[in-house]
Amino acid sequence: MFNASLKQLSLQLAGKEISSTELTTEFLQRIKQTNPEYNAFITVNEAMSLAQAQAADQMIASGQAGPLTGIPIAQKDIFCAKGWLTTCGSKMLSNFVSPYDAGVIERFNQAGAVNIGKTNMDEFAMGSSNETSYYGPVKNPWDHAAVPGGSSGGAACAVAARLAPAATGTDTGGSIRQPAALCGISGIKPTYGLVSRYGMIAFASSLDQGGPMAKSAEDLALLLNVMVGFDARDSTSLQRDAEDYARDLQKPLSGLRIGLPKEYFAAGMNRDVAKAVDNALNEYRKLGAQTVEISLPNAPLAIPVYYVLAPAEASSNLSRFDGVRYGYRAGSYSDLADMYRKSRAQGFGAEVKRRILIGTYVLSHGYYDAYYIKAQKLRRLIAQDFAEAYQQCDIIMGPTTPTVAFNLGEKSGDPIQMYLSDIYTSAANLTGMPAMSIPIGFGDKNRPIGLHIIGNYFSEAHMLNVAHQYQLATDWHTRSPV
Ligand code: GLN
Repeated sequence: MFNASLKQLSLQLAGKEISSTELTTEFLQRIKQTNPEYNAFITVNEAMSLAQAQAADQMIASGQAGPLTGIPIAQKDIFCAKGWLTTCGSKMLSNFVSPYDAGVIERFNQAGAVNIGKTNMDEFAMGSSNETSYYGPVKNPWDHAAVPGGSSGGAACAVAARLAPAATGTDTGGSIRQPAALCGISGIKPTYGLVSRYGMIAFASSLDQGGPMAKSAEDLALLLNVMVGFDARDSTSLQRDAEDYARDLQKPLSGLRIGLPKEYFAAGMNRDVAKAVDNALNEYRKLGAQTVEISLPNAPLAIPVYYVLAPAEASSNLSRFDGVRYGYRAGSYSDLADMYRKSRAQGFGAEVKRRILIGTYVLSHGYYDAYYIKAQKLRRLIAQDFAEAYQQCDIIMGPTTPTVAFNLGEKSGDPIQMYLSDIYTSAANLTGMPAMSIPIGFGDKNRPIGLHIIGNYFSEAHMLNVAHQYQLATDWHTRSPV
């Protein structure tokens, strides 16, 4: 049951082989036993999860079930969920019980899915190792000395350690794909604007996008079918016709042109990662694909551009946390300004403060043109590179991360090294293009490696097809650390 696909679980539920209440109880039991070690969940609320499971059982009994009805899903603690503690990994929100549901949570609730708990994450989604969480780091289930990646580290750990059949994540610079790669699971960041950001606590609004994390591409398709949809409460939400993201899964790949950016296959990638990517590309050739070298000349600038724009937007978004209306407030203060100052000084961790400082700096008079405007121009050039590349290929591939999971504590004192974890992933956020990671083997210390698949706008169904065909031919995605 813990290794079952979403489709299998759905069939078992429909066939009354198991009830949602039983399924939910099994996962809650497993979380109770192992979460003290993994620290993948910040909040588990058995009563609330079981109430949803009972409601799902009624939906099933009355013939109203959809594909995800009754299935437990772990929700990243960045999504506001009514009645649930919603912390975003921060002391600032350590007392915040959300009075409303995020758009994504609403959609899962309507589908009859069960919220199995809120997963741990880097504070305000700022980080690549889950070590900036106020709630402590998460362990990589493949090797407890390693980080799970971040910021959706709890989500990736929960899926890999089989504490939940699937999970949600958010991705501003790589936070779905990088932890998916480091924990040996699949994850997709959809095209910007497809998944509602309403009630998804904002980090950098022009980059943030929610998406699913699961064991396989097929599972991701079912999850996307629920998560994607227009939401008038998010001003950047896209109004498009609904799609079935599973519709193309079975298509053969013959004639597929895979673009390999020469900049991504240059220095910086470790040998074990390079070898695994090479093997995966050979597998694709066997499936009928051909590879073409492409160039993304401005792609190496993605990290510096990202680290101007993301902190700029964060410094503005995080100004709402002032200790007045909700969240943490300092215990003692002399006047209003002192209350703001102390609440923010005590409520935010070091990385969040660093981002607010950088962001305020690049937006300040005199530096705005030199940094912020210049970064916006480069963002456009990076998008142009991709547009040109897509005239020569249908899809782009490379490594998701330059190395396998690093050790806990290894990079936490060196922000630049930590920022470089997203060297391959952040361009897809800057351009808004969909991108995903799937497991393709193991490297140094037997830690997982991910293949990065970047698609053109709105090509999610095709990308999932490309990933699914690989997963039909290989079994990396079925490997489990437990
Ligand atoms: N690691 C990147 C950062 O720290 C990206 C995080 C994310 O995608 N939320 O900002």
